[in-house]
Amino acid sequence: MAKKTRPSAKPSLKLPPADGDGNHIHNEILLGLPLKEREMLFSKLELVRLKVHHVLHEPGDSLKSAYFCNTGLISILSVFPDGKSVEVGLIGKEGFVGAPLVAGFRTAPTRAVAQIEATAFRVGGETLIAILRQCPKLERRLQQFSQIMAMQVTQIAACNRLHEVDERLARWLLMSADRVGSDSIPLTHEFLAQMLGTRRSSVTVAAGMLQKAGLIAHTRGDVQIVDRQKLEEAACECYGIMQRQIEEWQGDSE
Ligand SMILES: [Zn+2]
Repeated sequence: MAKKTRPSAKPSLKLPPADGDGNHIHNEILLGLPLKEREMLFSKLELVRLKVHHVLHEPGDSLKSAYFCNTGLISILSVFPDGKSVEVGLIGKEGFVGAPLVAGFRTAPTRAVAQIEATAFRVGGETLIAILRQCPKLERRLQQFSQIMAMQVTQIAACNRLHEVDERLARWLLMSADRVGSDSIPLTHEFLAQMLGTRRSSVTVAAGMLQKAGLIAHTRGDVQIVDRQKLEEAACECYGIMQRQIEEWQGDSE
């Protein structure tokens, strides 16, 4: 009689790769590195948890660390002496905070802040600079990402000046959802207004319009994308332009 085999345990779930401490890696720059460079870099990374509104650096701070965003959302803000600020960049698991280091600069020109709860792999600034000399792929990817961010800043500057609040809000929600990997984004109108460089009342009106049209559902502190296709149609062309820039960059694995 054939020996009965024990029913196999649960089918093994395919988990994303992990660093040496078993932390799962979602950051797409890290995932795209060749094995040799991964081994060199991963032992120097430390996973950090960033609470909402945690500031990674202020303008003028010396860049002691760089961050590979792993989950959540990090905003890059231009800050003025009177305290006003406007968002000029948005970074999720596709990206990296600390671009000036790659070009040899040691000072932050902007504020970087966790927009929603986030995790990131932190590496010391000087350590990163030393590793880049031995990791050509990493160096190239970070140089390219710096250029992607420069294009994003250019687009967002034009968008903030030329496009209506409801189009910008739609653009912003889509960009955030892509980076978080979820259609539900925990945000308040006040924070959205700050990000879009506009008044809270304007964001409330714009969000009301998008909700009435059935594109989003927003409650206190949470925005849910209900109809992504229509939201894309409602967004200004800036969303598509910036999305294509990232996709082309990610498709080019040279
Ligand atoms: Zn726009």
